[in-house]
Amino acid sequence: MIVLAHMHVCIACRGRLLNDPTAILSTRALTPTEKETLQCLKPEDFITPDTLSRAAGIPVSDLEAYQDEGVVRLRHL
Ligand SMILES: [Zn+2]
Repeated sequence: MIVLAHMHVCIACRGRLLNDPTAILSTRALTPTEKETLQCLKPEDFITPDTLSRAAGIPVSDLEAYQDEGVVRLRHL
C-alpha cells in the first residue's frame, strides 16, 4: 500500500514501475496479491485517486489516508 500510494505522488517512481514492474517489484517485500495488483497497473490508472483506487481494488479513502504520511512521500523505489 505504501508503494501504491508513493506511485500516486511520485512520477519518477511511477515511470520506473510502469517501465519494468518485474525488476522493481522483485526487490520489495510485498504479498503476491500486492505484486500482481501493481504489475497490472497502467499509466491511465494514475489519472485520479479514483481511477487508481478502482484499478487497485482499494477504497479511495485508504489511498488518501496514506498520501499524507511522510514515509509515503520519501520512500522511493
Ligand atoms: Zn519516488
